[in-house]
Amino acid sequence: MEVIEKIGLMQELAEQWRRDGDIIALVPTMGFLHQGHLELLRVGREKGDRLVMSLFVNPIQFGPQEDYERYPRDTEGDLWKARSAGVDAVFMPTVEEMYPEGFQSTVKVEEVARYLCGRSRPGHFAGVTTVVAKLFHITRPHVAIFGEKDYQQLVVIRQMARDLSMAIDIIGVPTVRERDGLAISSRNSYLSPEERASAISLKKGLDLAKAMAAEGERDPSKIKKAIRELILSHPFTEIDYISICDPEELTDVEVIDRPCLVALAVRVGRARLIDNAMVREN
Ligand code: AMP
Repeated sequence: MEVIEKIGLMQELAEQWRRDGDIIALVPTMGFLHQGHLELLRVGREKGDRLVMSLFVNPIQFGPQEDYERYPRDTEGDLWKARSAGVDAVFMPTVEEMYPEGFQSTVKVEEVARYLCGRSRPGHFAGVTTVVAKLFHITRPHVAIFGEKDYQQLVVIRQMARDLSMAIDIIGVPTVRERDGLAISSRNSYLSPEERASAISLKKGLDLAKAMAAEGERDPSKIKKAIRELILSHPFTEIDYISICDPEELTDVEVIDRPCLVALAVRVGRARLIDNAMVREN
């Protein structure tokens, strides 16, 4: 497995692979790898002849009050896991390599980046699309793999790829969960045991929404109220948003008369957790 820190070297290797006729699959990550990342790598291994994983905690997608500085890191463990997952190259640049002095460009998706996390994390998605556009130009993938756990991120990246004619197949992978249903996330490492117990309220809220919709409830506000009460009955929780929205446009729906996305962001202690699920009308 190659471990590459320089943009130029990564581009040369990717170009060589392309000349050889290899299909390149990219899995972008911020590291601290868990089962969710490993599932993305498994899919990437299937889709590509060459599998590239990027490992970069992207400072420009974090707000000033957010957790960039304390974001969990374990480079050695990550490299070991990547090797076991059959990764051909890890692209692991420094911040200076990605954003040298004088850097001044942004890739920004307008509409679908506005709602949900876009409201509470201004600038976040522009940071994501800028780094992902750069990673695409550096690793030259035919296929790129993202988790449905970050559902809005997937929608925003699909929009960017379509709008900018990137000719990269964007693939979404279903959320990998702990045994009790908690969506696996690097940020779960922030949770104390008591907070971990409350974190399950997100999945419980989603299950409640599914059950209510299946029983014929079509009023999103009633479902949101029930989710809110359920989550707030768990200690240490603070709701950022609960949305029931169109799965493509991400705008709130007024009636559940088609498959809708339920998306949640909840603070549990110092961790901001997100999760989502589809609900169907009945
Ligand atoms: P991150 O390192 O948190 O930026 O995540 C890198 C990629 O892994 C993103 O495409 C995430 O959506 C995806 N991912 C994170 N957690 C999970 C999970 N539990 N299941 C599936 N994909 C995930």
